[in-house]
Amino acid sequence: MAIASLADAVIEELVAICGADHVFTGGSALFNRARVPAPFPAHRWEDHIPQAVVLPTTAEQISEVVRLANRHGIPVVPRAGATGLTDGAVPLRHGIVVDIKLMNRIVELDHEDRTVTVQPGINMLKLNEELRKHGYIYPDNPASYPCSLVGGRIGTSGWSLIGARYGHTRDLVISFEIVLPSGEIIRVGDGGGRKVRKSSSGYQLKHLFMGHQGTLGIVTEATLELVNRPEAEFSAFLAYPDYMDAWRATGELARSGVATLAGVVLFDELKLAYLRRDDEAYIPQPDWVKGVIACASYGNADEVRVGAKRLLRIAKASGGTYLGDEISQGDWASRHDRYATPQHGRTRNGQVALMSWHCEDAAIPFSQLPAVREEWHAIVKRLCDRFDMFDDWGMFAYTNGAFKPWGDYLTEIDVGIWEMRWDEETWAAWVDAKREIARVSIEHGGSITACHGSCREGEVDLVPLELGGGFDVMKTIKRALDPNNIMNPGKYLLDQAYDEEQ
Ligand SMILES: Cc1cc2nc3c(=O)[nH]c(=O)nc-3n(C[C@H](O)[C@H](O)[C@H](O)COP(=O)(O)OP(=O)(O)OC[C@H]3O[C@@H](n4cnc5c(N)ncnc54)[C@H](O)[C@@H]3O)c2cc1C
Repeated sequence: MAIASLADAVIEELVAICGADHVFTGGSALFNRARVPAPFPAHRWEDHIPQAVVLPTTAEQISEVVRLANRHGIPVVPRAGATGLTDGAVPLRHGIVVDIKLMNRIVELDHEDRTVTVQPGINMLKLNEELRKHGYIYPDNPASYPCSLVGGRIGTSGWSLIGARYGHTRDLVISFEIVLPSGEIIRVGDGGGRKVRKSSSGYQLKHLFMGHQGTLGIVTEATLELVNRPEAEFSAFLAYPDYMDAWRATGELARSGVATLAGVVLFDELKLAYLRRDDEAYIPQPDWVKGVIACASYGNADEVRVGAKRLLRIAKASGGTYLGDEISQGDWASRHDRYATPQHGRTRNGQVALMSWHCEDAAIPFSQLPAVREEWHAIVKRLCDRFDMFDDWGMFAYTNGAFKPWGDYLTEIDVGIWEMRWDEETWAAWVDAKREIARVSIEHGGSITACHGSCREGEVDLVPLELGGGFDVMKTIKRALDPNNIMNPGKYLLDQAYDEEQ
């Protein structure tokens, strides 16, 4: 389907705002900003391309672009690292993509009040390279650490691998500046000013403007928490002969009360099979190993040492076998950058198929993990039995609660997909499977997603079920702040806000 170009007069206005070098309308600039790594309907690629891409350098430029979009009724979609796994940065209704990558400076490093203020286009790797020189880190640590950006972390309200110790994005971002759908620029945060961590004045707006997937505005600056660079890091990989043993031990480790504990991860048997077969960096385990736990702790050297002893004591008492320093340290290090590993060639019908990685994530109560695991694998098995383009790559469960890691787990099933095979039938089957996966999560007292968001086809249909009356509040807020529905329209069923009499 060919998309109408924006009027010349609109492009001229964009050039006047951002500069000729920062406005793109050429084919590859547009097509490349249509896709994200989540299952992407490549057979419908043209349905999602933007009409223009701008790379602004200031909040004022973004504000002007948003005002222009309101005047002309053109959708605006913010795009950061484009690693989001729920299609958030996909311009479903075309329009203008605001790519924030050029806004990537550190604005202020405050040693006294322990904050760093940054533009939204900086990534955690670059930021931490600078902070380390001063003895700090910014501990938002997703597996997309080198390629997701601070703006996207706020747009998704991300989850951090070491969140049990340091918190997740919502805990680490103190305040931020945001361009509202009207074009107005405001600042929201945990307290007064940019750097206060707690206040009780008024509504707690910071959380409203996190995880909205660009539907309520564009973040243009953020003030972030600094923590001491850890003196010591301890990671242990532990093997179990049975998934249920490993599951029980995961709970015991997470409930240990060890203050330096940063995360506990449970790998199931299908995940181990996938790692044995497909991960070049993985050190294969003997056949008797049916479940593996990774646990990690960070902090001052003396505290980490004592905590590690306790964690290993618990692991031993629960029947775990320590897998040695090489895999413990090597595999844990590789968990902070999974971007390259998910692509595999698999032999299919005598030819090599390029399989891409796709991840369904949900927050699941600890007690429900075994049941959810069985039901999710059964759903994916039915898909694999019908079509030879899908593979079950196993499941992980990661501690999910910030500072309180015992209650629920970010639970992920990974599916390999031969994307060149998409057509309407396979896409519809995939969307159905995702809807079923989401339903299982909700039926077991979980949420559809723990960190990616739930905008994609299939799962998004269940958002009103998960949120109940909260979904009506979401629609009211969206319509009040974005009366013309220009901010990332088509996401989260929020078009309903404009269809209904409120
Ligand atoms: C290999 C891999 C591993 C991953 N591991 C993790 C993980 O461990 N934890 C985790 O949380 N996620 C993980 N993800 C998902 C993804 O990295 C996160 O969702 C991340 O926060 C997205 O950031 P981004 O910069 O890529 O944002 P994008 O994908 O560009 O955008 C994400 C959303 O935020 C919106 N947005 C972008 N910029 C702004 C802005 N300035 N203001 C307002 N809204 C904005 C976009 O419109 C979109 O809706 C992983 C992804 C991959 C590919």
